Amino acid sequence: MRRLILWIFGLIVVAAPVHAGDNLAKAIDEDYAYLFDLYKHFHSHPELSFQEMESAKHLGTELSGLGFDVTSGIGGHGVVAVLKNGEGPTVLIRTDTDALPVIEQTGLPYASTVRATEQTGREVSVMHACGHDVHMTVWTGTARQLVANKDEWSGTVVMIAQPAEERGSGARAMLADGLFTRFPRPDMSLALHVNSVLAAGRIGVTEGFAMANVDMVDIAVLGVGGHGAYPHATKDPIVLAAHIITALQTLVSREVSPLDPAVVTVGSIHGGEKHNVISNRVDLQLTVRSYKDEVRKTLMEGIARIALFEARALGFPEDKLPIVKVRDEYTPAAYNTPELVQRLMPVWQARFGDDRVVELDPVMGGEDFGLYGRQEPRIPSFMFVLGAVDPAKVATAKKEGVKLPSLHSSKFAPLPEPTITTGVEAMTAAVLEVLKKTD
Ligand code: ZN
Ligand code: ZN
Repeated sequence: MRRLILWIFGLIVVAAPVHAGDNLAKAIDEDYAYLFDLYKHFHSHPELSFQEMESAKHLGTELSGLGFDVTSGIGGHGVVAVLKNGEGPTVLIRTDTDALPVIEQTGLPYASTVRATEQTGREVSVMHACGHDVHMTVWTGTARQLVANKDEWSGTVVMIAQPAEERGSGARAMLADGLFTRFPRPDMSLALHVNSVLAAGRIGVTEGFAMANVDMVDIAVLGVGGHGAYPHATKDPIVLAAHIITALQTLVSREVSPLDPAVVTVGSIHGGEKHNVISNRVDLQLTVRSYKDEVRKTLMEGIARIALFEARALGFPEDKLPIVKVRDEYTPAAYNTPELVQRLMPVWQARFGDDRVVELDPVMGGEDFGLYGRQEPRIPSFMFVLGAVDPAKVATAKKEGVKLPSLHSSKFAPLPEPTITTGVEAMTAAVLEVLKKTD
């Protein structure tokens, strides 16, 4: 009897449909050695923004080897890889490719020793301190799984490797080069970014606004220089700059609703040479952040107005009024479309368990991924967060109240496993969900 029960139980186990998660997770585990080698390669060969040619070449070769239709040189060193697999929606999956001018101090055996020359001519050390090496590896791993599981989905995948994210200009450049006209226009776009506080093996999710509108503003505060002992014969731009900086604080505290996040930071001030000389000019550099378009408008108009009228209030001549310049490298807020978030959350919860899928607060950091979703008509978008830190380090940091190395830190060292496998599994599962066969 016991035998019979075991036999029947065995039949049930064999006959029960194999959970897709088990197969996928297993396949990704089996691919890990390949992906880890790839990761080490990317990590030890970082390239600065606008110089990502070798990374682009490597990614292009990987995906054309998988049967994707690969086009390089889109918006600089951008790569677009298209895979059509029957009827269905089109999904864009984005990785960024650039690294940062940072001297790596992780002590890892595969740490970068790369030096490169910036656009300014300055020679710098280069490091993947923002985890874009993880993103490229996960992107490639996802492509490998999508090809291996081609019979499980139907539609078109547009995988893009975007340059110059750190300069906020790669997405704009790829769009300007015909990303949505020369290639299939996506019905939705997906991306992920590693996180420096979330434990490896976890996924972080934010619904709605996740990252901020980011503007860079330069204010040239002009003046009429002269002797420090005869201020009445001058118009002192340092005093005016001080007034402007103080008045700018009222934008967030008095003009924007307390319920709307906003930041105005004067990150740089340069002016003057000597104790007793009143200078001709002070330069201010601001970072300005918000979520809503109308808040952004209030801030930008307010900055221009305050600069102008503080100068007039101090009697500056009309030909010495401040010059306010908003830089072109604006990145719009990353907005995670609620319907898409709500569709993918349960997929990940079922696969990873509730404790590995964490809801995160939005942040005021920036990302040019938001730009893809902002093309009219708007495209549902979702950038989720990939935990990348050794869980033991997360626990110790919490216990001892110490801070872990942040993104862009010379000591930021993602734990490759399970970061990479979790990323590939989460992204692949997301694509399998949105492109699942309907028949
Ligand atoms: Zn970064
Ligand atoms: Zn980044």
